[in-house]
Amino acid sequence: MEVECSFSNLKLKYDRLQKGGFFIANIQSIMYYNEDTIVYYKGQFIKAVEARGNVYDQSLHYGYAVFEGIRSYHTEKGVQIFKAKEHFDRLRFSAEAVSIPYHWSTEELTAISYEVLQRNNLKDGYLRPLVSCAPNMSLTKPKQSELLIAAWAWPALLGEKLLKLKTSSYRRISPASFKVEAKVSGHYVNSILASQEARDLGYDEALLLDINGYAAEGPGSNLFIEKDRVLYTPQLGSILPGITRATIIELAHELGIEIIEKQLTLQEVYNANSAFYCGTAAEVVGIGSLDDKAFPKPWKESLGATLQKVYKNLVLQKEYRTIEKIA
Ligand code: PMP
Repeated sequence: MEVECSFSNLKLKYDRLQKGGFFIANIQSIMYYNEDTIVYYKGQFIKAVEARGNVYDQSLHYGYAVFEGIRSYHTEKGVQIFKAKEHFDRLRFSAEAVSIPYHWSTEELTAISYEVLQRNNLKDGYLRPLVSCAPNMSLTKPKQSELLIAAWAWPALLGEKLLKLKTSSYRRISPASFKVEAKVSGHYVNSILASQEARDLGYDEALLLDINGYAAEGPGSNLFIEKDRVLYTPQLGSILPGITRATIIELAHELGIEIIEKQLTLQEVYNANSAFYCGTAAEVVGIGSLDDKAFPKPWKESLGATLQKVYKNLVLQKEYRTIEKIA
């Protein structure tokens, strides 16, 4: 069954999939652009429908590109891009990690991003900067790269209901084979395989283990678990160091919540009281179960639910410190 849902200035079509009571948006049916959409591409603001790529681009053939996912929020102080500096610094880091030429400043890209939002009349928007490589069929680093900044309205990527997760049969890419900490387009084939496998099996999303069998992350989000009033999250090494993850860690410190970064076994995740995923696109979303084992703590009483509220207040620039400290 299909339902229509209006979100910001776009009308979205959702396929309604009833899976164990969960309502899952078919994100493929979202319109990313229309005839009037403006993107910043190759140094100009142009219509998305008039943007011209090249079929010999190294990025298209080999997944050799880097990108970011950034959100803007309609706050009382106007449209604010959340953690623009951190995202554009990571874009530069990703490009340098894989030798893609990068010649933009964070300030310049932030200004362009605000203009892309404004030209598309987007307030709660999702920005997608992408640095792609020019035509080159060889397996050598490029001499030239191009910048795209697109934006669209995107509801929370994984919805707002508690997620039903499935441990993936695919392992997270190995740090011995890839620059895992960089946001490289080609890495996302691993994410697509894991995410689609979980959906094909009737779950909402995957949990990927790292190459050594420890819990790593979701296809596009970082994992946190709660056990005995302490938060745990997989340590860096086999995961994307998420900007939302870093924000959650900061907020937890501010709220007096103990937080430990370590290798987590699957058994430790199963034994958690509660769990959540976080990421720019997903924001903070609770996990109801993993491999059909439900987390026992009611979500509303979990540290994740508190952090979800506090995170929302932070991105909307509302006073979040009024939430009582948690001992
Ligand atoms: N892990 C992966 C694999 C991701 O793609 C993302 C989304 N960028 C995240 C974690 C979360 O990162 P962030 O909070 O910076 O969006």
